[in-house]
Amino acid sequence: MRSKEFIPGGRQLLDETDLEAVAQVLRSDWLTTGPFVEHFEKAVREFCGTKYGVAVSNGTAALHTAVFAAGFGKGDEVIVTPMTFAASANCLLYQGAMPVFCDVDPRTLLIDPKQIEKKITARTRGIIAVDYAGHPCNYDEIKKIARQNDLIFIADSCHALGAEYRGKRVGGLADLSVFSFHPVKHITSGEGGMVLTNNEEFSTRMKRFRNHGITSDHRTRAKIGTYKYEMLDLGFNYRLTDIQCALGLSQLQKLSQWIEHRQQIAALYDDAFKSFKKTIVPLLVHENVKHAYHLYVVQLQLGNLKDSRDVIFAKLRDQGIGANVHYLPVHLHPYYQKHFGYTAGDFPVAESAYEKILSLPMHAGLTDAQVSRVIEAVTSIAQG
Ligand SMILES: *Cc1c(COP(=O)(O)O)cnc(C)c1O
Repeated sequence: MRSKEFIPGGRQLLDETDLEAVAQVLRSDWLTTGPFVEHFEKAVREFCGTKYGVAVSNGTAALHTAVFAAGFGKGDEVIVTPMTFAASANCLLYQGAMPVFCDVDPRTLLIDPKQIEKKITARTRGIIAVDYAGHPCNYDEIKKIARQNDLIFIADSCHALGAEYRGKRVGGLADLSVFSFHPVKHITSGEGGMVLTNNEEFSTRMKRFRNHGITSDHRTRAKIGTYKYEMLDLGFNYRLTDIQCALGLSQLQKLSQWIEHRQQIAALYDDAFKSFKKTIVPLLVHENVKHAYHLYVVQLQLGNLKDSRDVIFAKLRDQGIGANVHYLPVHLHPYYQKHFGYTAGDFPVAESAYEKILSLPMHAGLTDAQVSRVIEAVTSIAQG
């Protein structure tokens, strides 16, 4: 029985200006592929400092679109972290390319550049790294490996809108960077995604791909008075509506203040867990980054605890604390085991982390009182 109000692990935050922004589009001529798509793309690409931004229907579609732009296909191997949501690897399978998993750093759970080098073969074409939890991946090292081996580097930055690496915003640090606007992410458009790049050719290919591989859109044709269009590639309907883009644009105005709030929450957690070093260890944060804290992840030191992670998880849920686990390593999903022969033991660092990680509530709407309740519950359980 839950005795207290439930504190969700992550959720959206909307205000009246968001509702008004959506209503304005509903009263306009274009519900989809209208002016708000470009407004939203421009705002996100300017925020991240990149030349091009292509809005699509969700983060998974954005990953697929990026993989298409990169040209990964049959016979190609792409190195990817297993400590992520399945979509980071699935996007390769959609185009017939092969995900090659690579273990992570035990302190940050980010893909380990030293391990990447060991996975490179004559067939390797690219790398997909994830800014896990909102901590930027090791961009400089990964970029160097990509340059030396002629690989395309895709950053799955779905956790990291607003994060910085060596003073630069995530979004323009890889060949292609992918964001999601699902309600649990930093800003939401209901569903939504975007790919950012500085490469014009990639941008052109992606704009076609989201619209069936067709050369123009209906608004352009209406403007110039033609019915003609041609399909050049096999694309999809991955369009993001103007309704969604208006919401995303309105949400973006609040992003910086929300990230600050997430950092304040993280600081409260960090501070509280300092006296529990033997049982609760937050992930390491490198000094050269600004962490966007999509997630706040701790590694339970199970050797010093009487309960397993799953028991601790259940106890927290019983107290109304929306703890979670991110993620079951992708190679351990039955689909990957069945079709690609991966098994337990293949990526020992990610697998052992999986046994002990716990994500604590983290979102812009959390109050100080709720944070205190989480801290109290976690520390009392961790005391035994
Ligand atoms: C959320 C997320 C995605 C997928 O985004 P959707 O918008 O839900 O399709 C992909 N990768 C990572 C790391 C994510 O967190």
